[in-house]
Amino acid sequence: MKHESADIVALGGGMASLSLVTALLLRGYRGKIIILEQLVASNVDKTWCFWGKGSVPRYLQSLIRKQWSRWSVSHNGREVAQSSINGRNDYCCILAEDFYHFALTLIEQNENVSFFAGQSVIDAQKQAGGVRVRSHDYDIVAQHCLDTRYQSDSSEKGLYQCFAGLWLEADQALFDPSSVELMHNLECHDGVLQFDYVLPLSSHEALFERTFFSPRPLLSEDLRRDTEQAISSRYGNIDVNIQRSEQGILPMIASASPVDRDCWHYAGITGGHMRAATGYAFVSVQRWAQVVAVSMMNNKPWPNYQPIKKRYRWMDKIFLRVLAEQMDVAPALFLRLLEKTDSGQFTRFMTEQASYLDLLAIIKSMPKRQFLNALF
Ligand SMILES: Cc1cc2nc3c(=O)[nH]c(=O)nc-3n(C[C@H](O)[C@H](O)[C@H](O)COP(=O)(O)OP(=O)(O)OC[C@H]3O[C@@H](n4cnc5c(N)ncnc54)[C@H](O)[C@@H]3O)c2cc1C
Repeated sequence: MKHESADIVALGGGMASLSLVTALLLRGYRGKIIILEQLVASNVDKTWCFWGKGSVPRYLQSLIRKQWSRWSVSHNGREVAQSSINGRNDYCCILAEDFYHFALTLIEQNENVSFFAGQSVIDAQKQAGGVRVRSHDYDIVAQHCLDTRYQSDSSEKGLYQCFAGLWLEADQALFDPSSVELMHNLECHDGVLQFDYVLPLSSHEALFERTFFSPRPLLSEDLRRDTEQAISSRYGNIDVNIQRSEQGILPMIASASPVDRDCWHYAGITGGHMRAATGYAFVSVQRWAQVVAVSMMNNKPWPNYQPIKKRYRWMDKIFLRVLAEQMDVAPALFLRLLEKTDSGQFTRFMTEQASYLDLLAIIKSMPKRQFLNALF
């Protein structure tokens, strides 16, 4: 067992930890950081999407693989679409492999940061003046602990967003590269909402995801099989090669996030940085990382900053309550949302940058009866 000391020890080396570490390093942070990651090789099978290039810091903008100016939802053959305003709120995507490459290269160039892979945290506790963390090979004392370990608790009541995505390559033009299908073919069966999410990088290459909003977590192998079936029913006999896959089971539970205490700080999904109703976390985590990095560089205490304000949590909670009680209305709700708001209002709401007038427009777009029932 090697003994180490650090200013910050990060439990988990995923998106949230690496976002903070890059934000600090690019501001010239010289403190010592140790990251403990349980996986031997980072899980790069993820694609992070968000609206508006300007929603992420400049150094991440160069990682954007593609932007789309149009997105749509559809149900029973009816499609509603929105378009961005002069490209300002385009839908953008960053591949996790590009993000990890960028962050891990930066870490390699900075001697003050160590990334220890294959190190599952066995024990982590507060002690006088900081924390003590143990993994298989390391015993670390540090001033601050950044906890990003997420443990799904399937006993929690609520919905789960479950999806399996396959990256497809076709030898003929199959996809419309100018438009993202956010929720295509929305359907509800037995209280479970289903739809396809199609992210076309070109006319020949796309990420195709079959997604479910379900009252219980679904099994990985079932998700993969459903996605394959959806692909073959949509594209028939056309030859498509599967390049790689990604999967997620995300809790749609708007519970209160854990509160940072003294030297113990939470981030990412564990820190409540993911929008319960959408599963989006990338932009809010970047916002959090910038606030923490600025504060630390100014020698101020670690701020207890929550990037998703209470008003969004409250709105997501009511929305999810409507879905949990009456999932069959969900397709109509999503169509209405895009139909009755403009793309500025919708995307500012999705990235937690909405004005009170935007929030009013979102509320007005929803049917009153179901929401009043859910509220009371
Ligand atoms: C497939 C997929 C697609 C997504 N797409 C989007 C999207 O388009 N847009 C968006 O905004 N969000 C998206 N999300 C949601 C969210 O942005 C991601 O889940 C994001 O990775 C969350 O960051 P995190 O740091 O909280 O968790 P992670 O990135 O998962 O990092 C946590 C790390 O902690 C490690 N760990 C856990 N326990 C231990 C332990 N005991 N010891 C050591 N290490 C440990 C894990 O191995 C992991 O590497 C997506 C999620 C998934 C799964």
